[in-house]
Amino acid sequence: MRLLLIEDDDRIADPLTEGLGRYGFTVDHVRTGAAGLAATATVPDLVLLDLGLPDMDGLDVCRSLRARSAVPIIMITARGEEADRIVGLELGADDYLAKPFGVRELIARIRAVTRRAGAPAFTPDGPTQSLAVFQSASGAQVLGPLALNRRTREVHLNGRHIALTPREFDLLAFLAGDPGTVYSRQQIMDTVWDPHFFGPTKTLDAHVAALRRKLGDPGWVTTVRGVGFRLTVPSEQGACEAAG
Ligand code: CA
Repeated sequence: MRLLLIEDDDRIADPLTEGLGRYGFTVDHVRTGAAGLAATATVPDLVLLDLGLPDMDGLDVCRSLRARSAVPIIMITARGEEADRIVGLELGADDYLAKPFGVRELIARIRAVTRRAGAPAFTPDGPTQSLAVFQSASGAQVLGPLALNRRTREVHLNGRHIALTPREFDLLAFLAGDPGTVYSRQQIMDTVWDPHFFGPTKTLDAHVAALRRKLGDPGWVTTVRGVGFRLTVPSEQGACEAAG
């Protein structure tokens, strides 16, 4: 399990990194909010987020992270930040720990949060009920009949497992980060492929085509001509928009 630790204080980060390492976690440590946001271009399994960062408000980091992914977030807060904890939870953080805390306590929280993330995410009534986007507290995301679990990297459609290649999953997960939003081809290439990808982007079209085929309806990924792509739940849209 790969954790991203965003914490400017090495006196906290170093023992945490070492302690978590002893329990088998891999920790990527960055010291600023900007570095943290940059590091989540490839989504970690969980983010540990200090709220008191030198370059930006940890709550803004939380908001930005949540706007683009359902990665579980545990806030690390100092005493006297009670109000921030509440705002952070409202912004989509999954839990918080108040300093000082021990590694064992943190691991218990990590386990609790990732258990929730892995819980069955389907709405029992299936696709006929309201198709509003539902994002569980962490990890699993439900879009109508589609359930996407970033932690296990599994996708189910109407309860049926859909086998995606790693890149297809990354593409779907990226578009699902904000359903309905149009992402430019460059944004998608930068994030799902490589930030320095300057070659032909035909591979993107091939992956979009594969996703549409595997999801059984081209309406899942709609082409916005001259701009890029966006994810939509086909039955919400009348499924007529996807011209390819
Ligand atoms: Ca700090």
